[in-house]
Amino acid sequence: MATRDSVISNPLNLKKYLELDQKGRIMAEYVWVDSEGGVRSKSRTLDAKKGGYQPSDLPVWNFDGSSTGQAPGDNSDVLLKPVAVFADPFRTIGGDNILVLCECFNADGTPNKFNHRHDAAKLMEAHAEQEPWFGLEQEYTLLNLNNYPYGWPENGYPAPQGPYYCGVGAGKVVQRDIVDAHYKACLYAGIKISGTNAEVMPAQWEFQVGPCLGIEMGDHLWMARFLLHRVAEEFGAKVSFDPKPIPGEWNGAGLHSNFSTKAMRAEGGMKAIEAAIKKLEGRHKEHIAVYGEGNEKRLTGRHETGAIDSFSYGVANRGASIRIPREVAAQGYGYFEDRRPASNADPYQITGIIMETCLGSVES
Ligand code: ADP
Ligand code: MN
Ligand code: MN
Ligand code: MN
Ligand code: MN
Repeated sequence: MATRDSVISNPLNLKKYLELDQKGRIMAEYVWVDSEGGVRSKSRTLDAKKGGYQPSDLPVWNFDGSSTGQAPGDNSDVLLKPVAVFADPFRTIGGDNILVLCECFNADGTPNKFNHRHDAAKLMEAHAEQEPWFGLEQEYTLLNLNNYPYGWPENGYPAPQGPYYCGVGAGKVVQRDIVDAHYKACLYAGIKISGTNAEVMPAQWEFQVGPCLGIEMGDHLWMARFLLHRVAEEFGAKVSFDPKPIPGEWNGAGLHSNFSTKAMRAEGGMKAIEAAIKKLEGRHKEHIAVYGEGNEKRLTGRHETGAIDSFSYGVANRGASIRIPREVAAQGYGYFEDRRPASNADPYQITGIIMETCLGSVES
């Protein structure tokens, strides 16, 4: 149950302030990935700019990395370099307010330890002529403030899985408001969200982002995660990306990663798909190493997963590491789905290693 202190949102009160004119200035919310797979953000004021801001127009900023586990106390400044700009779906009136996704750099100019975008962007650039497309399916679980799945009986379990996946109706789904509010917020912000659905475990949901070109995949997914945390905050729910939030006969949470290149999408593309899968087979361990923490609890070979220690693939097979969708096999070209990544994996690391394995590494 929510404590009294946590119930602080008063939308009607807030509205009259949101409507105030900003006198030619805007609010820019700088967002970055922290050391724990979460996001952090802070705001600053900028002069409004005709035509809007591009990342390169925006000032580099900094934060105290010793407070986020990203830098030591005696050398704590971490630099925030803007890389993508989105419309702010929370501060929608009074000015063209923005969300600014940033990469983190140390004081000496090297990428911060938790900045996985830097290397991924190099791989995307090196193979740009192959037009890599990604589509990620982000599963997550909504928790109450006691860290228990929303709507689950106190000290107990709901009825076994079955009615919840794409469920409709009371007793089958909870917190649909959050899912819809997040969906709208993503569309407003300019994120390439492609859909949502209720998942197999009650209180578990999914949204999909894509197809995105290259580095845009990580950028859009991280900003979509930020928006989800931010929306759920207003509804008094926590978002968990734990790959196995409840042990036992309950589905875990993944981040299925769909991938294709220009060659795979062209007539006869199945050859390129098969060649990529062959390469993935040879680097299974390396992929698992960056596919999320605690993934061994999820990849058991049960509950629609392949086992963590073996690589497998198949057409329409949801118990395999890699699934080739039925329609792709039928038409002979398209894309494939890497089902191994856990819900808490970093999309920059996932898309980066897929590029490295399937298309080749770059010198750094
Ligand atoms: P599933 O059947 O596995 O639940 P979803 O519909 O949830 O699949 O997600 C499929 C994802 O694949 C979407 O994010 C979509 O954008 C992406 N996708 C579709 N076509 C391609 C493609 N050619 N290349 C890469 N991703 C693609
Ligand atoms: Mn201060
Ligand atoms: Mn899906
Ligand atoms: Mn799913
Ligand atoms: Mn899937």
